[in-house]
Amino acid sequence: IMQAAPNTQRAVPKIKQAAVIGAGVMGAAIAGHLANVGIRTTLLDIVPRELSDKEKAKGLTLEDRAVRNRLAQAGKDRLQKEKPSPLYHKRVADLITVGNLEDDLDRLKEADWIIEAVVENLQIKQSLFSQIEKVWTPGTVVSSNTSGISIEKMVSGCSEDFRSHFLGTHFFNPPRYMKLLEIIPTSDTKPEIVDEMKAFAESVLGKGVVLAKDTPNFIANRIGVYGLLITLQKMMEEGLGPDEVDAVTGRAMGRPKSATFRTLDLVGLDTFVHVADNVRENVDDPEEQKAFEVPEVLRKMVANGWLGTKSDQGFFKKV
Ligand code: NAD
Repeated sequence: IMQAAPNTQRAVPKIKQAAVIGAGVMGAAIAGHLANVGIRTTLLDIVPRELSDKEKAKGLTLEDRAVRNRLAQAGKDRLQKEKPSPLYHKRVADLITVGNLEDDLDRLKEADWIIEAVVENLQIKQSLFSQIEKVWTPGTVVSSNTSGISIEKMVSGCSEDFRSHFLGTHFFNPPRYMKLLEIIPTSDTKPEIVDEMKAFAESVLGKGVVLAKDTPNFIANRIGVYGLLITLQKMMEEGLGPDEVDAVTGRAMGRPKSATFRTLDLVGLDTFVHVADNVRENVDDPEEQKAFEVPEVLRKMVANGWLGTKSDQGFFKKV
């Protein structure tokens, strides 16, 4: 943990407009939380490579706007359906406009804060940031919601000016309800950007901020993922099923929403595997590498498309 700066006199940045890239589990919900506090937000995702059966039946093509914006629109639609609701009122969803990265990259110029929440993969994030830099307006803060990939490496190919406005802002799932926000500066991040984002997150987003160092998985996931892996391993060894484990680790402990396997389903099993792999690949201690090994059964579930809540099948069906 880095020492938090003493209460600063600096102004909270005037973030009137934001952009979130990646409309999955986290991106859409972060956009929802920004809308909850009155911030206009552009939500972008990639263009789907194939038409869905419904789109084919409607005679749509890959060129149609509805198809090109499908992933971002699906993210926005989920905000209306999920429970507990990511939105404090249905109407706030009107503050979110959707688009796609190919056609709407220029819209990032309107944003005072750009948040990246795409798949947990260093190469994909690096190439996205070099794309973002091309339309970046100096002064705009850019951050990543990565669960634990090195913040510095993500922007190693970008200019010094861009890097000085870049940091990690790690929200927890679900972002409307989880109070913690890890802020991860690099040695290039301007101190005033860190102070401003901290003040903004606390006073506008209602978060409790912890400043973390840019180490694999930062603080909460370094501990949390380790705990989940141990539970998973032990329970499999002892032949217990997800229901039994969750009965003990959830309701019985007074934490019905954070039972072990329900948490894994909510996080996304694919994302969880990426996050565990990230520590194993980036720590030197062989003991720690061993501790972050992912059980084969989890990799098989992901390979079969069992991704958790987002695919309606994880440890639980239709969770
Ligand atoms: P997700 O799988 O739900 O969504 C990922 C999104 O990225 C999808 O909408 C996908 O279309 C998009 N995407 C895929 N390839 C892309 C590309 N090449 N360019 C742009 N977009 C692309 O994932 P998520 O759970 O929302 O995670 C997003 C980020 O947030 C990750 O870095 C993850 O580690 C982090 N995170 C996740 C959680 C969680 O509980 N799931 C919590 C905190 C942080």
